[in-house]
Amino acid sequence: MATPTALTYLPLATRRLLRDYAEIERAAIGENVSAGPLEANIFEWHASMRNGPLTVHLMLVFPKNYPHDPPSVTLFTPVPHANVVPSLGGYRICLDMLNPGNAAPYEGWSKCYSVASILRQLQAFIFDPAFQLDQHGTDMTIAVQRAKQFVCPKCPYTYDTPWPSFPTEYDLAKTAPTVVRRRVIAPPRKTPALRGPLIALAAEDDDAG
Ligand SMILES: [Zn+2]
Repeated sequence: MATPTALTYLPLATRRLLRDYAEIERAAIGENVSAGPLEANIFEWHASMRNGPLTVHLMLVFPKNYPHDPPSVTLFTPVPHANVVPSLGGYRICLDMLNPGNAAPYEGWSKCYSVASILRQLQAFIFDPAFQLDQHGTDMTIAVQRAKQFVCPKCPYTYDTPWPSFPTEYDLAKTAPTVVRRRVIAPPRKTPALRGPLIALAAEDDDAG
Protein backbone atom coordinates (compact mmCIF):
# COMPACT_ATOMS: atom_id res chain seq x y z
CA MET A 1 0.00 0.00 0.00
CA ALA A 2 1.32 3.45 -0.91
CA THR A 3 2.30 5.50 2.12
CA PRO A 4 0.28 8.74 2.23
CA THR A 5 2.48 11.82 2.16
CA ALA A 6 1.74 15.22 3.67
CA LEU A 7 0.62 16.34 0.18
CA THR A 8 -2.10 13.67 0.09
CA TYR A 9 -4.05 15.51 2.78
CA LEU A 10 -4.09 18.88 1.00
CA PRO A 11 -7.24 19.92 -0.89
CA LEU A 12 -7.21 19.12 -4.60
CA ALA A 13 -6.98 22.80 -5.62
CA THR A 14 -3.91 23.35 -3.42
CA ARG A 15 -2.22 20.23 -4.75
CA ARG A 16 -2.92 21.30 -8.34
CA LEU A 17 -1.55 24.81 -7.71
CA LEU A 18 1.61 23.36 -6.15
CA ARG A 19 2.00 21.11 -9.19
CA ASP A 20 1.41 24.07 -11.54
CA TYR A 21 4.06 26.05 -9.64
CA ALA A 22 6.54 23.16 -9.89
CA GLU A 23 5.85 23.02 -13.64
CA ILE A 24 6.78 26.69 -14.05
CA GLU A 25 9.86 26.35 -11.82
CA ARG A 26 11.01 23.35 -13.84
CA ALA A 27 10.45 24.92 -17.24
CA ALA A 28 10.29 28.70 -17.59
CA ILE A 29 7.58 29.93 -19.98
CA GLY A 30 10.07 32.24 -21.66
CA GLU A 31 12.31 35.15 -20.84
CA ASN A 32 9.34 37.56 -20.82
CA VAL A 33 6.95 35.90 -18.36
CA SER A 34 7.22 35.47 -14.60
CA ALA A 35 4.62 34.27 -12.11
CA GLY A 36 4.24 32.93 -8.61
CA PRO A 37 1.79 32.68 -5.71
CA LEU A 38 1.78 35.18 -2.86
CA GLU A 39 3.66 33.80 0.12
CA ALA A 40 0.59 33.91 2.36
CA ASN A 41 -1.99 32.71 -0.18
CA ILE A 42 -1.46 30.08 -2.86
CA PHE A 43 -4.84 31.00 -4.38
CA GLU A 44 -3.55 34.43 -5.46
CA TRP A 45 -0.74 34.59 -8.01
CA HIS A 46 0.94 37.68 -9.41
CA ALA A 47 2.53 37.63 -12.83
CA SER A 48 4.47 39.98 -15.09
CA MET A 49 4.79 39.99 -18.87
CA ARG A 50 6.85 42.21 -21.11
CA ASN A 51 6.99 42.99 -24.77
CA GLY A 52 9.09 45.83 -26.16
CA PRO A 53 8.68 48.94 -23.98
CA LEU A 54 5.62 47.59 -22.13
CA THR A 55 5.73 45.46 -18.97
CA VAL A 56 2.38 44.60 -17.41
CA HIS A 57 1.57 43.16 -14.00
CA LEU A 58 -1.38 40.83 -13.46
CA MET A 59 -3.26 39.14 -10.66
CA LEU A 60 -4.72 35.65 -10.99
CA VAL A 61 -7.22 34.62 -8.31
CA PHE A 62 -8.02 30.90 -8.26
CA PRO A 63 -11.36 29.53 -7.03
CA LYS A 64 -11.41 26.89 -4.29
CA ASN A 65 -12.62 24.38 -6.91
CA TYR A 66 -9.69 24.96 -9.29
CA PRO A 67 -9.04 23.35 -11.78
CA HIS A 68 -12.78 22.71 -12.22
CA ASP A 69 -13.20 26.46 -12.76
CA PRO A 70 -10.66 28.94 -14.17
CA PRO A 71 -8.99 31.78 -12.24
CA SER A 72 -10.12 35.37 -12.64
CA VAL A 73 -7.42 37.50 -14.24
CA THR A 74 -6.96 41.23 -13.65
CA LEU A 75 -4.44 43.56 -15.26
CA PHE A 76 -3.32 46.32 -12.89
CA THR A 77 -2.63 48.87 -15.64
CA PRO A 78 -4.35 49.42 -18.99
CA VAL A 79 -3.24 48.13 -22.38
CA PRO A 80 -4.65 49.38 -25.66
CA HIS A 81 -6.45 46.17 -26.56
CA ALA A 82 -9.89 45.47 -28.00
CA ASN A 83 -10.60 42.79 -25.35
CA VAL A 84 -9.25 44.49 -22.23
CA VAL A 85 -11.92 46.48 -20.41
CA PRO A 86 -11.87 48.60 -17.24
CA SER A 87 -13.13 46.64 -14.25
CA LEU A 88 -13.17 46.74 -10.47
CA GLY A 89 -9.58 47.16 -9.25
CA GLY A 90 -8.02 47.06 -12.71
CA TYR A 91 -8.69 45.76 -16.20
CA ARG A 92 -10.47 42.55 -17.13
CA ILE A 93 -9.31 40.35 -20.00
CA CYS A 94 -12.08 38.90 -22.17
CA LEU A 95 -10.50 35.64 -23.26
CA ASP A 96 -12.45 32.52 -24.23
CA MET A 97 -10.29 30.11 -22.20
CA LEU A 98 -11.14 32.00 -18.98
CA ASN A 99 -14.89 31.39 -19.37
CA PRO A 100 -16.07 28.67 -16.95
CA GLY A 101 -18.65 25.99 -17.62
CA ASN A 102 -18.82 26.28 -21.38
CA ALA A 103 -20.83 23.36 -22.74
CA ALA A 104 -19.53 23.59 -26.29
CA PRO A 105 -16.51 21.37 -26.97
CA TYR A 106 -13.16 23.07 -27.66
CA GLU A 107 -14.45 26.31 -26.17
CA GLY A 108 -13.97 27.96 -22.81
CA TRP A 109 -12.08 26.63 -19.81
CA SER A 110 -10.81 23.06 -19.53
CA LYS A 111 -9.55 21.57 -16.27
CA CYS A 112 -6.64 20.19 -18.32
CA TYR A 113 -5.22 23.72 -18.49
CA SER A 114 -2.53 24.71 -16.00
CA VAL A 115 -1.14 28.07 -14.90
CA ALA A 116 1.57 27.65 -17.55
CA SER A 117 -1.00 27.21 -20.33
CA ILE A 118 -2.99 30.22 -19.06
CA LEU A 119 0.13 32.42 -19.02
CA ARG A 120 1.15 31.32 -22.53
CA GLN A 121 -2.30 32.20 -23.87
CA LEU A 122 -2.40 35.50 -22.00
CA GLN A 123 1.01 36.53 -23.31
CA ALA A 124 0.04 35.79 -26.92
CA PHE A 125 -3.33 37.49 -26.47
CA ILE A 126 -2.30 40.68 -24.63
CA PHE A 127 0.56 41.48 -27.00
CA ASP A 128 -1.15 40.36 -30.22
CA PRO A 129 -0.67 43.34 -32.59
CA ALA A 130 -3.96 42.47 -34.33
CA PHE A 131 -5.87 43.49 -31.18
CA GLN A 132 -3.82 46.53 -30.26
CA LEU A 133 -6.18 49.41 -30.73
CA ASP A 134 -6.50 52.68 -28.86
CA GLN A 135 -9.22 51.74 -26.41
CA HIS A 136 -10.88 53.42 -23.45
CA GLY A 137 -8.62 56.46 -23.76
CA THR A 138 -5.48 54.32 -23.71
CA ASP A 139 -2.81 54.22 -26.39
CA MET A 140 0.61 52.56 -26.19
CA THR A 141 2.31 55.73 -24.86
CA ILE A 142 -0.21 56.03 -22.01
CA ALA A 143 0.01 52.28 -21.31
CA VAL A 144 3.81 52.45 -20.95
CA GLN A 145 3.59 55.58 -18.75
CA ARG A 146 1.03 53.99 -16.43
CA ALA A 147 3.00 50.73 -16.29
CA LYS A 148 6.20 52.56 -15.30
CA GLN A 149 4.44 54.33 -12.43
CA PHE A 150 2.75 51.20 -11.09
CA VAL A 151 3.73 49.83 -7.69
CA CYS A 152 1.86 46.67 -6.66
CA PRO A 153 -0.04 47.12 -3.40
CA LYS A 154 0.01 43.39 -2.65
CA CYS A 155 3.44 42.10 -3.70
CA PRO A 156 6.98 43.57 -3.94
CA TYR A 157 6.57 44.40 -7.68
CA THR A 158 7.73 47.67 -9.19
CA TYR A 159 8.43 48.35 -12.87
CA ASP A 160 12.20 48.42 -12.27
CA THR A 161 12.24 45.37 -9.98
CA PRO A 162 9.54 42.99 -11.19
CA TRP A 163 8.31 40.31 -8.79
CA PRO A 164 8.67 37.44 -9.28
CA SER A 165 11.79 38.34 -11.28
CA PHE A 166 11.94 37.34 -14.93
CA PRO A 167 13.79 34.08 -15.67
CA THR A 168 17.56 34.30 -15.79
CA GLU A 169 19.72 32.69 -18.49
CA TYR A 170 20.27 29.83 -16.03
CA ASP A 171 16.51 29.30 -15.63
CA LEU A 172 16.08 29.27 -19.40
CA ALA A 173 19.02 26.88 -19.90
CA LYS A 174 17.53 24.31 -17.52
CA THR A 175 14.32 24.55 -19.58
CA ALA A 176 16.20 23.30 -22.67
CA PRO A 177 15.10 19.83 -23.82
CA THR A 178 16.72 17.04 -21.79
CA VAL A 179 18.09 15.29 -24.86
CA VAL A 180 20.14 18.32 -25.82
CA ARG A 181 21.38 18.82 -22.25
CA ARG A 182 22.49 15.18 -21.97
CA ARG A 183 24.48 15.45 -25.16
CA VAL A 184 26.31 18.54 -23.91
CA ILE A 185 26.87 17.66 -20.26
CA ALA A 186 27.35 13.90 -20.31
CA PRO A 187 29.20 12.54 -23.36
CA PRO A 188 28.94 8.79 -24.02
CA ARG A 189 30.93 6.84 -21.44
CA LYS A 190 33.01 4.97 -23.99
CA THR A 191 34.70 8.14 -25.26
CA PRO A 192 37.50 8.42 -22.65
CA ALA A 193 38.44 4.75 -23.00
CA LEU A 194 38.55 5.03 -26.76
CA ARG A 195 40.50 8.25 -26.82
CA GLY A 196 43.91 6.68 -25.96
CA PRO A 197 43.93 4.06 -28.72
CA LEU A 198 42.47 6.58 -31.21
CA ILE A 199 45.24 9.10 -30.48
CA ALA A 200 47.80 6.30 -30.86
CA LEU A 201 46.31 5.33 -34.23
CA ALA A 202 46.31 8.96 -35.39
CA ALA A 203 49.97 9.27 -34.36
CA GLU A 204 50.81 6.13 -36.33
CA ASP A 205 49.10 7.67 -39.38
CA ASP A 206 51.19 10.81 -38.97
CA ASP A 207 54.40 8.79 -38.72
CA ALA A 208 53.47 6.84 -41.86
CA GLY A 209 52.74 10.08 -43.79
ZN1 LIG B 1 1.85 42.15 -7.48
